[in-house]
Amino acid sequence: ESYISGTSNLLQTLIGHSSGSGSGIPLLVQRTIAKQIRIERQIGEGRFGKVCLANWRGEHVAVKVFTTINDQSWLRETEIYQTVLLRHENILGFIAADLKVSAGGAQMMLITEYHKRGSLYDFLKENTIDTTQLVVMARSIASGLAHLHEPINGTHGKPCIAHRDIKSRNILVKTNGECCIADFALAVRYDSRRNEIDIAPNLRVGTRRYMAPEVVNDTIDVTSFSSFKSADMYSASLVFWELCRRSRQSWPVGGSPMLQADEYMLPYANLVGSDPSVEDMRVVLIIQGARPDIPIRWKCDNRLRVISEIIQFCWHQNPNVRLAALRVMKTLRKLEDSETLENGIHHV
Ligand code: ADP
Ligand code: MG
Ligand code: MG
Repeated sequence: ESYISGTSNLLQTLIGHSSGSGSGIPLLVQRTIAKQIRIERQIGEGRFGKVCLANWRGEHVAVKVFTTINDQSWLRETEIYQTVLLRHENILGFIAADLKVSAGGAQMMLITEYHKRGSLYDFLKENTIDTTQLVVMARSIASGLAHLHEPINGTHGKPCIAHRDIKSRNILVKTNGECCIADFALAVRYDSRRNEIDIAPNLRVGTRRYMAPEVVNDTIDVTSFSSFKSADMYSASLVFWELCRRSRQSWPVGGSPMLQADEYMLPYANLVGSDPSVEDMRVVLIIQGARPDIPIRWKCDNRLRVISEIIQFCWHQNPNVRLAALRVMKTLRKLEDSETLENGIHHV
């Protein structure tokens, strides 16, 4: 087929049945896995495909089926998942990628671990969390981002990766209460030794509601890779804000303390419609300089207060003021540990 020629090495490798996977699973094995799965039902829907629950030798897996070859997202996502040393407990676990070419066209799929609690967005719409869960979720998201963003040096090292589409729909909730980051179709990799970004970072990709002001405004400095990491941190701050709203906090209602959480709300839902344009976001972020509201009650709880402070640094107009994922992770890890210590003392 014509579209196969001129594509990347990875695609050639997949078609050629040879090895070369960075994920630890040889590509031939990946193709075998792909042949053995049985699709059970659809669990998610995106712009270019759907996500299904499937069964592989009695185990549940998730299968993302891409419907159009014109879109590069299957190829890109597969490439990113094959990155050496990408595996991490807060990055969605990749199992296999496969491409079937037939006379009728092509079917591309991506097989990953299945998380039955679904996306963080779906989870937060249905559930509130306590502040302990809040810290675990926020820290795990920061850990996943820090793993993506930070390089691992050495000959078999890991490049820096920026996600470019961080939002609650692209984060999954694991049964242990931590989160993992998914949907890498827009990610970019940076080779620090060669000072090169691996694809042309076409401007203004991602979900408009979560776009950093400098992305909306087109002033992002694409010559520096740290710009993409700062833009991710802005998007992450909105996800942290969504988490904080759903956190139950003891708060006096009519004189007596009650556990209270806010209704689920998408960031900026009070300021823009359901499918905001870049111009809508420009008015809100640049002209009005608006950000989501931080309620006073969050300042009255230690965990919520620490996370609100992180949020306010991370959604700062100036990307250089935003905290790095590693720094956020360390701060939240301390918060988690001090809590364990407190509980420990309590139990003595
Ligand atoms: P798209 O690129 O189309 O946005 P995603 O990878 O973001 O696809 O997946 C779309 C939705 O499918 C997610 O928001 C989530 O609800 C669901 N989903 C995706 N992967 C999994 C998985 N591994 N386990 C459970 N649900 C998933
Ligand atoms: Mg998605
Ligand atoms: Mg996507």
